[in-house]
Amino acid sequence: MPPSAASRPGRAYTARTYPVVPPIYQTTTFELDDRAYQDIQGTGGLHETWYSRFSNPTVQAAADAIAALEAADHGMMTASGMAAIATSLITHLTVGDTLVASRQVYGDTGDLLERDLPRLGIEVVRVDAWDTDGWQRAIAEHRPTVVFGETLSNPQLRLWDIPTVAAAAHEVGATVIVDNTFATPHCTRPLELGADVVMNSATKFLAGHSDVVAGVVCTNDIAVMEAMQRRMITFGGCLDPHAAYLVWRGLQTFPVRLAEACRTAVEVADTMAEEPGVTGVVHPGRDDHPDAAGVVPRVMPESAGAMVTLVLEGGDDRALTVIRRLELAAEATSLGGVETLASLPFNSSHFNMSPEARFEAGILPGMLRLSIGLEGADRIVADLRQALRDGDR
Ligand SMILES: *Cc1c(COP(=O)(O)O)cnc(C)c1O
Repeated sequence: MPPSAASRPGRAYTARTYPVVPPIYQTTTFELDDRAYQDIQGTGGLHETWYSRFSNPTVQAAADAIAALEAADHGMMTASGMAAIATSLITHLTVGDTLVASRQVYGDTGDLLERDLPRLGIEVVRVDAWDTDGWQRAIAEHRPTVVFGETLSNPQLRLWDIPTVAAAAHEVGATVIVDNTFATPHCTRPLELGADVVMNSATKFLAGHSDVVAGVVCTNDIAVMEAMQRRMITFGGCLDPHAAYLVWRGLQTFPVRLAEACRTAVEVADTMAEEPGVTGVVHPGRDDHPDAAGVVPRVMPESAGAMVTLVLEGGDDRALTVIRRLELAAEATSLGGVETLASLPFNSSHFNMSPEARFEAGILPGMLRLSIGLEGADRIVADLRQALRDGDR
């Protein structure tokens, strides 16, 4: 203990108390001692706690809890899911490199791939998430440095064949980075399927209460983790300790929340498939899902997730009428909270595409995306039914 800390009552207690809940270390800096100086001079300060942009015990508590869920040896929190994506990509890419990435990615990830990375001299090649042959061809032809995709795409909820793509990527020495936000580590752990780095927007299911923006990166490779930590330090995408505490707290109920939401999602999907006015239901747990026979059993064998996409008769206009009539579900972007959220890809996540481009990408007119919450299937179905009923009110 630094002598200066010993002389200040009330501050030097952490070595002899064992709180059940991690304290919120709302401090930017920590008193220096010989160990800290050694670390700063030895590794550049990666291993001792001395400044909160480098590391902070509350922030690391959240990272460690998520790493355990992802079956990873190392985890690092970031300020947002986008900070996790940008930090992990920039760590692995430099001018002249090629990235092979999914065509179906989160909107801001798409902007990063199409606007920002090319400006840095990085070539980006896109492949449809479900086109496994296309991934193998693109990887063999372009010999990328990094391969990037999402376990489960939005709103088509198509799966990415991580084991097959990772094998092809490793043949050319590429690093495989997976965005596991929609699937969550409850349903699948990409590192076990061959990915090298997995990231999540912890804003969504991991924190789970729609009250904090955060991201997380996990890997089993300590050298890769330290390289990403360096970029987190220089690009500045660190998480605040109070936000990290909210993530940690949300994680305590993650397994039960996800078990309930995934179970409810199956029930809502199966019930709505029989509902008049609903022409299609997309959920990876259903036999009529395009990946049901092939990729689902290998990539999401245990649970098929808490996202459900409906296709409503009457197209986007009708979908807009229906979503405005919902009383229980909130019309909002984002996902993964305790409350059911509904959104329309045409005016939110995919508003910047033409109707033709949306159709080509499998985003059909009348698609309504649901992030299933914890209200129970009966209440969610009743809400959808009353919203689907015709007639003026
Ligand atoms: C929300 C989201 C992100 C971005 O996360 P933020 O925490 O909002 O920065 C990235 N990928 C996917 C799949 C997401 O849903």
